[in-house]
Amino acid sequence: MQKEHIRDTSQGTPRGTPRDSKENICVAVRFRPLNKREKEVKDDSEISIQINTENNSVILEKKVHDEARQFSFDKIFDENSTQKNVYEGIAKDAVVSVIEGYNSTIFAYGPTSSGKTYCMFGEQEEEKRGIIPRICEALFHEVENKEKVVEATIKCSFLEIYKENIRDLLNKNHTDDESLKIRHSEAGGIYIQGLKQKVVCSPEEILETIAYGATQRSTGSTSLNSVSSRSHAVLCLGLTQKLSDETEIFSKMNLIDLAGSENVGKSEVVGSSLQEAQQINRSLSCLGNVINALTEKGRDHIPYRDSKLTYLLQDSLGGNSRTILIITASSHSSCYYETLNTLKFGKRAKDIKNIPIVNKKEGGLAKKVQDLTKIIEELEKKYEDALMSNTITLDDTKETASIKIITTLNLTIQRLQHKINYYEQELEKKREWEVMTDNFLEKQKELSTNLGNQLYKQQIICSELSSEIENYKLFFKILKNAKSASVVSMLFKNFSFEKNQTSKTT
Ligand code: ADP
Ligand code: MG
Repeated sequence: MQKEHIRDTSQGTPRGTPRDSKENICVAVRFRPLNKREKEVKDDSEISIQINTENNSVILEKKVHDEARQFSFDKIFDENSTQKNVYEGIAKDAVVSVIEGYNSTIFAYGPTSSGKTYCMFGEQEEEKRGIIPRICEALFHEVENKEKVVEATIKCSFLEIYKENIRDLLNKNHTDDESLKIRHSEAGGIYIQGLKQKVVCSPEEILETIAYGATQRSTGSTSLNSVSSRSHAVLCLGLTQKLSDETEIFSKMNLIDLAGSENVGKSEVVGSSLQEAQQINRSLSCLGNVINALTEKGRDHIPYRDSKLTYLLQDSLGGNSRTILIITASSHSSCYYETLNTLKFGKRAKDIKNIPIVNKKEGGLAKKVQDLTKIIEELEKKYEDALMSNTITLDDTKETASIKIITTLNLTIQRLQHKINYYEQELEKKREWEVMTDNFLEKQKELSTNLGNQLYKQQIICSELSSEIENYKLFFKILKNAKSASVVSMLFKNFSFEKNQTSKTT
């Protein structure tokens, strides 16, 4: 479990939480099953790709050149891995992180047809659903069950980067030749100006939104994969949570399906498709450059601005985000160089360090406690400094001044500590009240249900009694009109007085 680190927006670093708690990008590799073409082509016996899921490593060997390379990753999924395995193995924790208030990014990188879209979106059938539909479902489920959340909003946006243009997939009025602009927000982080953000109320609504966006995508086909997408797709889920102590938590999750790292010669592309492939190659090589710059020692300048993709991903690469990279590949010998290059990319990315922080704004009493804690920290520092200067000075006037400062600071610290205790007690009382109110409401509900049941029972008894009275009235009416003793005796024999006795006693 990573240490929580609170965003420093003038409140300073709270007690006991370190600044700059860095963590590496998590890199997983997934090998897809061989496709029809690969099954038909005989595997080159000089080449071997050995996948070891036990120690999460891959060995690529080219016997002719006596070349063997071993790569280790955070997680390796082989051909037999299911969509559920991949979700539970790497993506599930990202949902927990987002709910805690961390920004998260999951992106799939690999050659065309290696299974990026399958991993991220998957297919309709339940067990073939990819990471995205599973995350949507889990996100709603977790938010609904989180204690202390009084209000939560989830917003969804969906864009693609096609030939260096950012296109809003949810805005049908958006024209192809104008690109949306990436901007820096005042609070830190980046956003896309004018991008449509849709408030969604259920996982199904996100999936409908994605399905609509997918119809707006620019797709092309190459001989490698007839439905391969030629653009990068970015789905962003923004979560805002308001807690009962008035704290607000903001976090976002970027889910990215990159276009293929295309080998132009191999896919036989020409004309505008060639231009697309070159644009994709360019943005992916910019991604490689950014990763190199981030992992090389002594590099100050990171070329994020060289492509829209890297500009957009800058929080996810070396910034405020928990990032997971899924490398997709094939273990067939014909894909040796593509797989080798893809693994090299993943190995480099593994060294990137991010600084994820919980994005939250304290409110009410919790904010007051945090502010006072910060003041105390500063005063304690001054106090330490004053103590230090007091021990090294021999000058009488300075010494008296220092003692005076120390005494004042000590008193102020005590006073503030007192205030903190008071606010914390108030906060505790408020929480107790909330629990009591909840219990009271629960009790009230129970009582009114019981009363309702009693009332219903009484109503049944009343209606049974009144029908009995009717019965008696009818009996007396017939009795009054009876002409002979034999009729009277027959009446007494046949008329049932016991009819409603049972319900009266219930
Ligand atoms: P990419 O997005 O990398 O170009 P796709 O995800 O479209 O590749 O995958 C290419 C084909 O391979 C698709 O028909 C997809 O259904 C299939 N595929 C990919 N990965 C897997 C997998 N792990 N299991 C089964 N089929 C897969
Ligand atoms: Mg794809």
